[in-house]
Amino acid sequence: MAVQTVASTTDSANSVDLGPAAALSCRECGHRVPLGPVFACEECFGPLEIAYDFSGHDTEELRKRIEAGPANIWRYAPLLPVPADVATKPNLNPGWTKLVQADNLARELGVTGGLYVKDDSGNPTHSFKDRVVAQALEAARAFGFTTLSCSSTGNLAGAVGAAAARAGFRSCVFIPHDLEQGKIVMAAVYGGELVGIEGNYDDVNRFCSELIGDPAGEGWGFVNVNLRPYYAEGSKTLAYEICEQLGWRLPDQLVVPIASGSQLTKIDKGLQELIKLGLVEDKPYKIFGAQAEGCSPVSTAFKAGHDVVRPQKPNTIAKSLAIGNPADGPYVLDIARRTGGAVEDVTDAQVVDAIKLLARTEGIFAETAGGVTVGVTKKLIEDGVLDPSLTTVVLNTGDGLKTLDAVAGTGLTATIRPSLESFREAGLV
Ligand SMILES: *Cc1c(COP(=O)(O)O)cnc(C)c1O
Repeated sequence: MAVQTVASTTDSANSVDLGPAAALSCRECGHRVPLGPVFACEECFGPLEIAYDFSGHDTEELRKRIEAGPANIWRYAPLLPVPADVATKPNLNPGWTKLVQADNLARELGVTGGLYVKDDSGNPTHSFKDRVVAQALEAARAFGFTTLSCSSTGNLAGAVGAAAARAGFRSCVFIPHDLEQGKIVMAAVYGGELVGIEGNYDDVNRFCSELIGDPAGEGWGFVNVNLRPYYAEGSKTLAYEICEQLGWRLPDQLVVPIASGSQLTKIDKGLQELIKLGLVEDKPYKIFGAQAEGCSPVSTAFKAGHDVVRPQKPNTIAKSLAIGNPADGPYVLDIARRTGGAVEDVTDAQVVDAIKLLARTEGIFAETAGGVTVGVTKKLIEDGVLDPSLTTVVLNTGDGLKTLDAVAGTGLTATIRPSLESFREAGLV
């Protein structure tokens, strides 16, 4: 592919301004290559990630600069692979979502050490995916792509469509054809092309990998394939925001959903960076991963003590997490074990119960992925794995309006004639 060849020459790399991003480095063998739209190591085929040059930061100055920045992810631009003037470019500017102190839910679950919900349903397209797409978009601009694309379990398609619309890119995105209506509409409404593939997410992903190597995909930036190293960094902003919103403090425990596992690994990377930069005090934290039982390749491996994640065929209502062959699975296992966390799963019925629990205690309507994290939190407390006396942050990564079917049984309390008599008869007073 012409674009890839050009971008990996030294000349072109020097002309790419992605702020503190210095190079791509292999997570397996450490081999470094210049910044470009590549995602696999040429030496060992391991995944590439961004290596930064954060030298020259004075901690207090950096903290002040962040605090004076915009109320979106670009307040952390000095720590992201984006040009310094990123905030002036057309972008959806996601992030700085609410960290809700969930005292009612805490009481219900017996948490005494402080329970918080990081509510990413407040992003422009109502899921955490706006964070990662915003980074990929800047990389696409830097590498001269004109079409944005992705393989998606639903939320990503909407986030790419919206970001492309705002920034003047063409978009063409691929999803499993049988997604929830809410996700299909959310992906289609921004006017880009939306292609349903007869197969599951893993089939869609395989198709996109083929398209990248084909002339038909030339000039296309696939946010989660050839731009994946840049895309993935967007999840670090969740870690930054949580710590800043806690008063520049690390939480003790985090419960994070797992689809490909990218988000969880980059939250860990973000926390490590804050420690290294001196922005938070170094102390232990535990990261817990959450899956739905019907797609639980990582929790299955965790419980079996395996290092290898065996692919599964997904069958769950938590479709946004339904990746049967998660690329970052082994790294998630490492992080859960290294930090003293765990990976757990809950049934679809428990997901629905947890969606309702969060809604009735905190007024937050989560999509099924949020039901997964809240359900897993409850289960881990009941099993004595999560310590209720410690500060705990649970992620809600999407909006319940996207997965209405999951709570379709919820509805009218009563139907009455418009009269007081009828109201009394209904037994509500
Ligand atoms: C994509 C997604 C995630 C996490 O995805 P990873 O692939 O693990 O980074 C979590 N929640 C929702 C709602 C998502 O759409």
